Amino acid sequence: MISASHVTKSYASSTRPALSDVTVEIAEGEFAFLIGASGSGKSTFLRLLLREDRPDSGTLVVAGHDLTRMKASSVPALRRSLGCVFQDFRLLPDKTVAENVAFALQVIGKSRRTIDEVVPETLEMVGLVREAGRRPHELSGGEQQRVAIARAVVNRPKLLLADEPTGNLDPETSEDIMLLLDRINRTGTTVLMATHDRHIVDRSRRRVVELVDGRVVRDDSRGTYGVGR
Ligand code: ADP
Ligand code: ADP
Repeated sequence: MISASHVTKSYASSTRPALSDVTVEIAEGEFAFLIGASGSGKSTFLRLLLREDRPDSGTLVVAGHDLTRMKASSVPALRRSLGCVFQDFRLLPDKTVAENVAFALQVIGKSRRTIDEVVPETLEMVGLVREAGRRPHELSGGEQQRVAIARAVVNRPKLLLADEPTGNLDPETSEDIMLLLDRINRTGTTVLMATHDRHIVDRSRRRVVELVDGRVVRDDSRGTYGVGR
């Protein structure tokens, strides 16, 4: 699902590369954590996967798309096969919960009929049927993140990218979000989650890919956050 080979990325303003010679393979159906301190390169890696930016060297294949050769005209097709969620939810404040989820389908031209069928199903899956008509500011952080997850998966992406999805949530709410991501993973969606939440990583015992200063220093199949980091 993700195949990164010797990926290096530097920003003009910085002396040290944000990513250095990153090689990692994530198979279809996997759940993997991308961990590392702030500034270790996690977000940069996710941005490259979304093709918001390009590597300086190396190759990157995501959901069958070779990002190093990809034409700009193919980027929308790539993005349609990915879902993503962020620490700050990024919901549309003037739209209701249901409209936020529906909007993801409207922009890719799905029919009203499909939208009317799929949106309630997705809200059901994340446990927000009763909140469908509310606006984001009326919801708790955990509920807002569930809306964001609903929006990310409503188009049944093959790959879900999550950048610190529990970063603004208390431990109990974070657990709920993890259970939801786990359920989504069990339906066959590959999940890559960037986090520095030690508790979540240690409880999950999933694959852990660790970055230090832009380099992969560890890749454990049932890892913990590790000591002293
Ligand atoms: P993380 O997500 O692990 O906190 P980032 O990918 O955001 O790490 O950052 C990796 C490195 O790249 C850091 O040194 C950061 O300062 C630098 N960096 C990130 N984004 C930019 C940018 N847009 N311009 C310049 N440097 C950046
Ligand atoms: P439009 O943008 O076409 O005027 P809306 O923004 O009102 O439509 O709604 C977009 C979609 O959101 C609808 O097609 C429906 O699937 C969903 N939706 C809106 N309100 C609700 C609700 N209370 N419960 C479930 N789904 C809803």
